[in-house]
Parts: sequence; structure tokens; C-alpha cells
Amino acid sequence: MSVAHPTSSPTTLADLVAQSTGTCVLNCYQCGRCAAGCPQNVPGFMDISPTRIMHLLQLEDTFSNDPPRAAEYARQALTSSTCWLCAGCQACTTRCPQGVDIAGVMDVLRQQALALGLAAADRRSEDIQKFHATFLAAALKHGRIHELDLVLRYKLASGHWLEDATVGWQMLRRGKLSLSRPATVDTSKIQAALRQMGAGPDGGIEEAKT
Ligand code: SF4
Ligand code: SF4
Repeated sequence: MSVAHPTSSPTTLADLVAQSTGTCVLNCYQCGRCAAGCPQNVPGFMDISPTRIMHLLQLEDTFSNDPPRAAEYARQALTSSTCWLCAGCQACTTRCPQGVDIAGVMDVLRQQALALGLAAADRRSEDIQKFHATFLAAALKHGRIHELDLVLRYKLASGHWLEDATVGWQMLRRGKLSLSRPATVDTSKIQAALRQMGAGPDGGIEEAKT
């Protein structure tokens, strides 16, 4: 049976998910299908499984009248590597018998972590977080992505100047990375989508803005 969940004035991550994705994490009955089908939930990758993330959000919501305890559950969900290592493949969302949009939950967690300035759990997640912030900053500013500019800004943010340098040079030579920037387009829809995820007007990525 579907459990209704409030969507106005979000106070918990579950509220924010309901507002942003239209699904309710309280409907999750911990069957584990999302974790079992997740290609990133393998040893050495995600530190918390997608199923456990759903449980943390349920616990935060359940103990919302005990703020320190609720905040600790939210912190565990927001600082895990899980949302950053999620590939957005939607396998979990399509497998969920309760109709929970787990991939959408990961989107919300990423935006909240950025908005709150929470560091990612490890270097791999940290690099993905930097790429994510760089990508969103460019999308918010121009509405389109200029790949070469994105690569250079990501390198600047991550400091990994020589990683993939050979591949980058080959792509440049073969015309896969354009030197000219595409025209800027209207970004209002991108900004509205980010606001819906609780990211604030700057997408929670002020530090990465160009
Ligand atoms: S598949 Fe759905 S119901 Fe099952 S654990 Fe994952 S979110 Fe919960
Ligand atoms: S969308 Fe993310 S959490 Fe879901 S199965 Fe794919 S990688 Fe795993």
C-alpha cells in the first residue's frame, strides 16, 4: 500500500525527495532489489548500498522529532560515496516493486550535499563531486556544455592535470573537442529544476561558478 508523504515545506530528506521526484522513500520495504541490481554496488565501490540509503532516509524521517538523531542519519546518507558513485543507470528505479525513484533520490542527495558544502567520502567520490559541480556551473551559466572548457575547469578543480592527457590530446587532434564555444541558451529551466531539488538559486555550487 502506498504511504502518502507531505510535499510542502520540506523538512527532511524524504520530504525533499517527495517534492523533487514525486515518490516516497517511506514506501520502501527493504526488499534489497535496488542494491542487488546496482552495477556500482560491488566491493570497493559504494560504501553504503542503495537499500541502506533508503533506510537512512526513513530513519531520518521517523526520528524527525529528535533533531540530533535525525541529523546523524541525514549526515550518513549525505556524506557516503553512494550518491556520487551512482551512474544514474535507473536499474534500481525500474526494479523497485514500490515505485521508489532511487536514481532520483541519488540526484537529490548530490544536490543537497553540494548545497550544504559536505565533502565526499573518498578521493574517487571527491573527483566526481568536482566534475558534477563544474558541469552544473557551466550548464547554469551557458545552458550548453563546451567540452574543452569543461575539461580544463575540471582539471583546475581536481588538480589532475596529467591524467588522461594522452586521450585528451588525441580527441583534440581528431576534432572531438571543439575549440569554439556553442551559443548560450536560456538556463531558466535548469535553474528551476535545481531549485526543486533544494539546491538554491546558484545550484549550491557557487565555488565552482565561472
Ligand atoms: S527496491 Fe524499492 S522497496 Fe526494495 S529496497 Fe529498494 S527502494 Fe526499497
Ligand atoms: S541508478 Fe545509481 S543506484 Fe540505481 S542501479 Fe544505477 S548506479 Fe545503482
